[in-house]
Amino acid sequence: MSDKRKKIKQLEVMVADVVENTQETITLILFTGNDLLDYKPGHFLTIDPHQFEALERWTNYLEDKKGKKEKPRAYSLSSAPDEKYLSITVKEERYTQGKTMYPPLLSPILAKRTPKGTRMVITGFTGPYTLIDPVPETLVHICAGSGIVPNYSIMKYALRNYPEMKHRLLYSNRRWEDTIFGNELLQLQKEFPDQVELVFSFTREPKSGLPVTCYNRRVDLNMIQEILPNKNDSIYVCGPGLSVYEKKAAKKEGSKPSPRFLESVLADLEILGVDKKNIKNESYG
Ligand SMILES: Cc1cc2nc3c(=O)[nH]c(=O)nc-3n(C[C@H](O)[C@H](O)[C@H](O)COP(=O)(O)OP(=O)(O)OC[C@H]3O[C@@H](n4cnc5c(N)ncnc54)[C@H](O)[C@@H]3O)c2cc1C
Repeated sequence: MSDKRKKIKQLEVMVADVVENTQETITLILFTGNDLLDYKPGHFLTIDPHQFEALERWTNYLEDKKGKKEKPRAYSLSSAPDEKYLSITVKEERYTQGKTMYPPLLSPILAKRTPKGTRMVITGFTGPYTLIDPVPETLVHICAGSGIVPNYSIMKYALRNYPEMKHRLLYSNRRWEDTIFGNELLQLQKEFPDQVELVFSFTREPKSGLPVTCYNRRVDLNMIQEILPNKNDSIYVCGPGLSVYEKKAAKKEGSKPSPRFLESVLADLEILGVDKKNIKNESYG
């Protein structure tokens, strides 16, 4: 059996605490008993919706409608391996009438209806979006929305364990109130002023008074250039990308889907002549 297979296991966990990060996002602190938690910052776990009795009718209905089994959903770990508890941070997906094809299945229940004491089975830990070895001198993080989750874990872990490593983060959200780990990131910058540089972009509402550079527009080429003075730095990009459904629908229509955050950042990096081997990306589409 390969090393990777051996590490993936099912664990029964108990929700030890629920922390509200933003109006739409919570962090579930998971108590795992004595199980050895063998994961890397940036790894994700999966949660199978079939285990939740409250979702049974809903899951069956969606499976009938879609003509296929609902798959486990992936959630990056917001905790770091040197922390006592495991945690995931979940943003509630919304159903928009006339726009969203099906109501989202799992995130609403995780984000809004999972009280302390809930037991669930998770499967983990895996994923390629982890810190490279040897660690780079500077890591440039470009994130949007819940795409901050694995990068936050990587940053916390690296700041504690690789004091020579620098982090530059460009992080996009609709507004400050939607910024997951906004205050925690400011605190990291305060604690590690020589290692952390933050740039926020707010697409809906400007925010003044924050001790970091803030833009009031979508992430664009100029912003990326600013955060990336050296195009040989390692770059980690995480956030909403085109889903397989959007790609398939566009292909069927013979059209090109409009790029989402991830595709547009990758296109800008290409324009800037960044070598693909310096980029890691994870799509939450
Ligand atoms: C590696 C990875 C890590 C992730 N980490 C995080 C994280 O840390 N935090 C976080 O909040 N999220 C994370 N995600 C996203 C997460 O896995 C879920 O996709 C998200 O929570 C939505 O799940 P859901 O069950 O609520 O919605 P879903 O039921 O999956 O629906 C989501 C969207 O897909 C559409 N859809 C679903 N099925 C079909 C279909 N058959 N045809 C057409 N459209 C369809 C729905 O209409 C809806 O718009 C991650 C994703 C990946 C891949």
